[in-house]
Amino acid sequence: MPPPAPDRYAVLGNPVAHSRSPFIHAAFAAQTGQALVYERVLAPTDGFEAALRAFAAAGGRGCNVTVPFKFDAYRLCPRRSERAALAEAVNTVRFDAEGWFGDNTDGVGLLADIERNAGQPVAGRRVLLIGAGGAGAGVLGPLLAASPAEVIVANRTLERAQQLCARHAELARRHGTALRASRLDAPGQGFDLVLNASASSLAGGAVPVDAAVLRPGTLAVDLMYGPAAAGFLAWASAHGARARDGLGMLVEQAAEAFALWRGVRPQTAPVLAALRAQLAAEAVAP
Ligand code: NAP
Repeated sequence: MPPPAPDRYAVLGNPVAHSRSPFIHAAFAAQTGQALVYERVLAPTDGFEAALRAFAAAGGRGCNVTVPFKFDAYRLCPRRSERAALAEAVNTVRFDAEGWFGDNTDGVGLLADIERNAGQPVAGRRVLLIGAGGAGAGVLGPLLAASPAEVIVANRTLERAQQLCARHAELARRHGTALRASRLDAPGQGFDLVLNASASSLAGGAVPVDAAVLRPGTLAVDLMYGPAAAGFLAWASAHGARARDGLGMLVEQAAEAFALWRGVRPQTAPVLAALRAQLAAEAVAP
């Protein structure tokens, strides 16, 4: 008898051609001996629900969801993890028979990269979170759970940051964290940790805050990676900060999704190293 077909997973987004998730999940599957395939699905901007339903109906077991559909995915999942409910955004779906289950692994992925990979503890530190979109929302809950002294959420649209902070006020109180929203032009100075979860780099724009937010030794992370993150990383380094891109977060959030789907936790360090080598090779390719 031929072996059963491997289980199907995918990332749904628009655009999605640039996604490194197929590489990451193929590496995790090889490492853990799991039989699965992982594809890219380009969903029309007005056709995410149909694309998600079609993938599930075709035998998909689960998927990742990326820009701009994380809020739509949240609405389409009748069952959600606590962290996805707080974020009101879903980046990982498991197609369970009893109802689709939505999770958000972005925040734990970022925290794993900051604390484990970059060796920067968050407890007791002052943090500036720039951006209150899907990524900012996904990150704030796990960030507060690490008990920083202070978190300022600075966003271009102040009201969006205020709403996000209001939703997380109780969690912040439980962890003894001072949490407040701010405009981009006066978020404060000399933070221990600066996280760019805005789409400024993706949009090819300038760094949206003043360099006074940095001090020597600040860990400054852009959730973006590849050439688009270069401007932010150069800005941070030029002001004495430790600059880090979002590649580690990408691999760590994928590991959390893989564990949710397969019940097995892959090792992330070799996959992150392979991905960095791949990006470096692409950067020098003619
Ligand atoms: P999103 O939901 O579209 O939100 C965009 C956010 O960026 C909003 O807060 C928006 O402010 C702000 N913004 C957009 N253009 C800006 C500009 N030119 N200057 C200042 N702020 C600007 O996008 P998202 O899902 O949050 O993604 C944000 C970034 O995180 C993207 O670069 C994405 O690639 C990255 N990301 C990386 C990972 C990873 O694993 N490494 C995971 C998730 C996301 P307004 O509210 O005023 O519109």
